[in-house]
Amino acid sequence: MESKVADRLSFYRSTIPNGKVEIVAVSKFQPEALIREAYMANQRVFGESRVQELKQKASLLPSDIRWHFIGHLQTNKVRELLRIPNLEMIESVDSFRLLEEIDREALRMGKIIHVLMEVHVAREESKFGFDPGELCDWFKNEGYSYLQATHISGVMGMASNTDDEQLIINDFQAISACFRKIKDENADLRGFDILSIGMTHDYLLAVREGSNMVRIGSGIFGER
Ligand SMILES: *Cc1c(COP(=O)(O)O)cnc(C)c1O
Repeated sequence: MESKVADRLSFYRSTIPNGKVEIVAVSKFQPEALIREAYMANQRVFGESRVQELKQKASLLPSDIRWHFIGHLQTNKVRELLRIPNLEMIESVDSFRLLEEIDREALRMGKIIHVLMEVHVAREESKFGFDPGELCDWFKNEGYSYLQATHISGVMGMASNTDDEQLIINDFQAISACFRKIKDENADLRGFDILSIGMTHDYLLAVREGSNMVRIGSGIFGER
């Protein structure tokens, strides 16, 4: 059977360095049938931005899917999110309060959760995320040392929503520099390796700036 989703997936796979960049298929607002098409084409990592929707889909879809949460997460939804067995990562930790809550709940449940810290550089797109300088200082001061059940695996970010390529490049360079600075200044940080930048319209620019995780939604599944 012909599958448009499978064709699009193989297109994206063919345009990024093989084995170096993970594709997160962003399936928010997309029906289960399209997610199954991607699954049949061997896609295993999917991204969702709402807890209810992720929970619903995770209960219906194969259990070897590795779900990434990529939306703004309210602290009162953390427990529900962490209960999803095959949640692999929360990519969108955008406040220290949220990080504390995640750690507390994960510890309570006896699991280790992997997270990315969301860096905010874009002009208008989202108001969530850390200022790069603030985040660097926090790492330098080993602000993470109290964490017991949370593994910080890297950073996530978005570029400004604009047609101006140079602006997008500048944003990605700022996020990438923040990621490398944290790595350089904290030699004992282990497993801090993921730079999640790039979406459908800008993933190639992101890969050029060092991205090793791209989050592609409409390019794979069509418009939402
Ligand atoms: C929706 C979303 C994406 C995917 O966007 P597309 O332009 O459809 O590829 C990526 N990252 C985040 C955080 C999103 O909310």
